Amino acid sequence: MKLNPNYAKLNESYLFADIAAKVRAFVREHPQADLISLGIGDVTRPLSPAVICELNAAAHDMAAEETFHGYGPEQGYGFLREAIVRHYAAKGVVLHDDEVFIGDGAKSDLGNMTELFSESSVLLPDPGYPAYYDVNVMAGNRIHFAAGHSRNGFKPMPPSGRRFDIIYICSPGNPTGAVYTREELKAWVDYARETGAVIFFDAAYEAFVHDRSLPTSVFEIEGARECAVEFCSFSKSAGFTGMRCGWTVVPHELAGGALNKMWLRRQTTKFNGASYVVQRAAAAALGEQGQYENRKIIDYYMRNARVIHDALTAAGIRHTGGVDSPYIWMRCPRGMTSWEYFDALLERAAVVGTPGVGFGRRGEGYFRLTAFGNAEKTARAVARLVDVTLAMTNRK
Ligand SMILES: *Cc1c(COP(=O)(O)O)cnc(C)c1O
Repeated sequence: MKLNPNYAKLNESYLFADIAAKVRAFVREHPQADLISLGIGDVTRPLSPAVICELNAAAHDMAAEETFHGYGPEQGYGFLREAIVRHYAAKGVVLHDDEVFIGDGAKSDLGNMTELFSESSVLLPDPGYPAYYDVNVMAGNRIHFAAGHSRNGFKPMPPSGRRFDIIYICSPGNPTGAVYTREELKAWVDYARETGAVIFFDAAYEAFVHDRSLPTSVFEIEGARECAVEFCSFSKSAGFTGMRCGWTVVPHELAGGALNKMWLRRQTTKFNGASYVVQRAAAAALGEQGQYENRKIIDYYMRNARVIHDALTAAGIRHTGGVDSPYIWMRCPRGMTSWEYFDALLERAAVVGTPGVGFGRRGEGYFRLTAFGNAEKTARAVARLVDVTLAMTNRK
C-alpha cells in the first residue's frame, strides 16, 4: 500500500487531551474544589422547543408509508435551501437556491472544499481554528500565516506584494472573538479579486453579532460573489453540534460557474446529505418561532460574554471579543506562557480555559475564555480569575 505522506506531516494535537489530563489530576488532588470550565467550545443549552417539535413531526413522517422519506435531494431539501435564501435576503443578500448546499456541518465542508483546488498556496489566520491548518497539511498545500496580534486587533489585513490561492477568514473569529468591519472585509475582497484568490469565509458565529453595522456574511460586501465561498452552520446558532447540519454557499460567478458545478459533483458523489429529520429541524430553527427561541439562547450566552468582558475591562486585563462573539481572548499576565497561566489558574482559582498557543504560534501568551457555560458558574469563575490574575500581575 501507498499511504498519503501528508498525514505524517501533521503535528499531533494534544491540546484538549493535555487539558483533560491536567484537570483530572487537579480533581484527584482537590476532590472538593468548585472546578469551573470557561474552556467549553461546545454549546450547552438544549435544543429550542420549536426545533424539538419539528423533530418529532419529522420522525412521525418516517413512520407512515405516505410520508416516509428515503434518499433526499442531493443539494439538500428545497424547504431548507429556501429558508436559507430567505435568511440571507433579510441581510440584503440575494442568492439563488442552487448556490446553497446543505451539509452535515461547516467543518466537513471547510475541509472537503480543498479537494476542488490543487497544489495551492493558502493563507491562514494565526491564531486560528486548528482544522484549517490540518486539512491543508492533508491536502499537501503550501501554508502561510496571516499574523493576528494586539496591534491589528487580531484582524490580519491583506499583505502587500504577495498572492495566495486560498485565503481563510473567520469572522467573528475563533479563538479571538474579533469581528471584521465592512471596510476591512472589503479590503480582503478587493485583494482577493486583484490577486485571483478565493476566500473561504467561515461564518459559524454570525448569529452572535449584535452590532448591525458589522457584516455577518461576506456576500454583504460588493464583489464577494466573484471571489468567495461561505461556510455556515446550525451548530452554534441553534445548538446543532450533536445534530449536524450546516450549509455552504458557492456563487455562480466563481471560476465562471465551474466551482459551483464541481462542488455539486463532489457532494453528489461522496456525500449523502444531512438526514430529512435533521433538515426539517434546521428549517424550524430558521422559522419565526425558532429564530425567536434561539435568539433567547444566544442572549443567554452573550450575557455570559458580557460578564466576562466587563470584569476583565474593570480589572484592566487586555482582551478582544466578548461583544459580538462568544469568545474572549485575553492577554496572560506579563511574562507568562499560555500553559503557565493555565496551570496557575487551575491551581489557584480552579478555573479552566484554553491556552492560546493551541491555536497557533501567535497565540502564545494569550488565553481563550468562552461564554458557553452556565451563567452562575461563569460569574463565579470570572470573579476568581480576576482576583488571581491581578495578584499575579501585581507581584511582578
Ligand atoms: C464550531 C465551529 C464551526 C462549526 O463546525 P460544525 O462542523 O458546523 O459543527 C466552524 N468553524 C469554526 C471556527 C467553529 O468554531
